[in-house]
Amino acid sequence: MGLKDVKEWLHYCGRCNSCKYIYRVYEPSCPAFEKFKWEPYTSSGKVWIARDLFEGKYELSQSICDKVFACTLCGNCTIQCQQEIGDHALDIFEALREECIEAGYTIPAHLKFRENVEELQNPYGEKHDKRWEGIDDKYFKDSAEVYFFVGCTTSLRNKTLFSNILKLLDYLGVDFTLARDEWCCGSPLLTTGQKKSAKFLAEHNTDLIAKLGAKTVITACAGCFRTLHSQYPSKYGLLTNQNHFNANKEIVEKTKDTENEKDTKNIRVLHISQYLNEIIDKKNIKIKHPKEINVTYHDPCHLGRHVGVFEEPREVLKKLKGVHLIEMPRNRDNAWCCGAGAGVKSGFKDWALEISEDRLREAMQLQKTQDINIDYMISTCPFCERNLSDARKSLIDKGELSDSSLKVIDLVELINLVLKQK
Ligand code: SF4
Ligand code: SF4
Repeated sequence: MGLKDVKEWLHYCGRCNSCKYIYRVYEPSCPAFEKFKWEPYTSSGKVWIARDLFEGKYELSQSICDKVFACTLCGNCTIQCQQEIGDHALDIFEALREECIEAGYTIPAHLKFRENVEELQNPYGEKHDKRWEGIDDKYFKDSAEVYFFVGCTTSLRNKTLFSNILKLLDYLGVDFTLARDEWCCGSPLLTTGQKKSAKFLAEHNTDLIAKLGAKTVITACAGCFRTLHSQYPSKYGLLTNQNHFNANKEIVEKTKDTENEKDTKNIRVLHISQYLNEIIDKKNIKIKHPKEINVTYHDPCHLGRHVGVFEEPREVLKKLKGVHLIEMPRNRDNAWCCGAGAGVKSGFKDWALEISEDRLREAMQLQKTQDINIDYMISTCPFCERNLSDARKSLIDKGELSDSSLKVIDLVELINLVLKQK
């Protein structure tokens, strides 16, 4: 997708500025605007840059592309914008990124992702076999009802979460398999304007899923989930059997079958929170924490705003007796981004941490105003969990946060903690 593919939307921004704050609440919504306080970094700024570039008023440069890449693609601006452009702004930002890459303007860390993925099929530059180190052979079957797509961050950077997920699926009696030949889903390339380079990953993973014969694919990473659920269908015409949502979060028509579609038309792609929400009820499992604890929930952008999964993780939390969910003021559609996405954690490390610190401060403020201790901040994405945990450590080091509150853990890890203490 280049600017020509989004040209019909380039004139729709009236520069009203609503995208920079939560609509009618006036709390900050855009991490880029909060940091840089300058129009080119905002949603409207990028839309107008795209418009002027398309009209040939000026040419791309590294300086423009630095601003284009200084955005987490969190999509909060698209919710706050009350004009039609809101539905298309993310497409425009992605198209701008692709134009930057085509013109040779990039962020070195993003190029490294591509080299690593092309050589080793993961963005971290690790040997492929490292994904499965310490994982029992029994988890690799020729076929199963459910395929657990693990993802690069969980398999290579968060083995604790990986083993927690295996333990929980075993406890719930799920017939599932892993696949030794799983490759990166492509999210790190898709979000950094390198869509063309991600195609071979989408095709490989879709073939793999077809071979396994699984009816359901689950993933615990919000980035992998959005990519398999929404971007394989929309960008490559693969895995088309998914429910999609409109701006009011109503289910709209499934993606139409395309000529690219393989033998995977009936496969559902679910985030693990959706799957757990179904299976805990189906198996009538009761989970009770022995003491009352308070938690708050961080909506990952790729799971919430991008795909519309807001309620299922909350439903799972409500099923855990003794666990009290306290909502942060900016939740669901309005949630403040964790700061890690779309190449910001690799390209702008300090800023990514600042964004996450702000998210934790929001929960700390809640503790103060309600005079409570919040034991855990719950995540449903290993990438968010990583950035929020780094920010928590930074706030503890600065003396702002006590070690006894707001421990960042995944929803799956919380369930296992509760089960262990039964
Ligand atoms: S992107 Fe939407 S909210 Fe932002 S300035 Fe343009 S029209 Fe207004
Ligand atoms: S996607 Fe997020 S960071 Fe980027 S302009 Fe919109 S609100 Fe700001």
